[in-house]
Amino acid sequence: MNKKILIVPGDGIGQEVTAVGKLVLDKIAEKFGHTFTYDEALIGHVAIEATGNPLPDETLEKMRASDAVLFGAVGHPKYDNDPTAKVRPEQGLLKMRKELGLYANLRPIKLFDELLGASSIKPEILKGADILFFRELTGDIYFGEKGRKNDGDTAYDVAEYSRFEVERIARKAFDAARTRRNKVCSVDKANVLETSRLWREVVQKIALEYPDVEVEHQFVDATAMMLIKDPTRFDVVVTANLFGDILTDEASQIAGSMGMLASASIGDGTGVYEPIHGSAHDITGKGVANPLASILSAALLLEISFGLKAESDALINAIDAVLKAGFRTRDIADATTASNMILGTEAMGNEVLSRI
Ligand code: NAD
Repeated sequence: MNKKILIVPGDGIGQEVTAVGKLVLDKIAEKFGHTFTYDEALIGHVAIEATGNPLPDETLEKMRASDAVLFGAVGHPKYDNDPTAKVRPEQGLLKMRKELGLYANLRPIKLFDELLGASSIKPEILKGADILFFRELTGDIYFGEKGRKNDGDTAYDVAEYSRFEVERIARKAFDAARTRRNKVCSVDKANVLETSRLWREVVQKIALEYPDVEVEHQFVDATAMMLIKDPTRFDVVVTANLFGDILTDEASQIAGSMGMLASASIGDGTGVYEPIHGSAHDITGKGVANPLASILSAALLLEISFGLKAESDALINAIDAVLKAGFRTRDIADATTASNMILGTEAMGNEVLSRI
């Protein structure tokens, strides 16, 4: 198979982990007889520094022209601590999602058995947890009108959803449930928000097309609690942009660390695959970032955009073997991990590479 992959490392540890993601894709191509050609493009803070624009047109064009994008992260403390900055790295991310029509963000949350001890949740609660989140990605409060009034003393962000936007993400979630355990939990705040009432109405209607799928509606505050109390009760979870953003970070603790979670953003055109973590400036340049989320992102890329399931499984099995051999990065090590088994980014990448 011949495919064009665009590498967009972005900022901070995005650079470090995406370099490893590219290496494993290379190895897969070599082992399975594919030809992957790569190009690279700028986004986020590095793009602002180079061009003044967090998503240069050239990057967008390259994204549209490629078969899939392996993405790192965006963000820089300079902007996090300056609410007045007019140009911000995250604008690049939001614009990319909108321009590429990436309305569905898939976040599989599954714990590798070897990491049962790495989570702050008790192993007996966690064992068997396997959740697939569908976070809506191009609507909600992130994209509505925002601004200040009353001389800047009052701020507002408008949340908006259309029937069509809810329908298309709901269908994706119900379709996925049919390939898993036939359960969908739709998360909203329909007791308070009008957008949530529309959300629930639409999901209830779509559910009629899937009589074989069990559907449950839950308020987001209850879901936040249930994810920690009883994570195995969930199969597919579908929710709006803001709720999904928060709940999936919470759910990352089920998988042991932010450094273990990948996501796929899909929609009308090129799919974008990225770890759920950010640019993590607290550890940037130290060589300690966990590259496994980027490798898992590459696995999702192979399966979803290219239909290469065996190749995707080869990556997941290699990670499993590395963890079984006892290797850990710092974020997934626990009190029982010997210090010589705690690896940096590059060394962890090499352990995975050698087991593909
Ligand atoms: P973060 O995900 O970057 O980091 C949160 C914590 O998890 C940090 O302590 C970090 O060290 C740790 N962590 C994250 N990824 C890790 C990895 N691979 N290995 C080991 N430890 C890891 O979130 P934050 O600190 O809230 O935000 C930092 C910057 O990232 C901000 O500028 C924010 O806007 C941006 N951000 C970007 C994205 C994205 O690009 N999709 C997502 C979230 C945050």
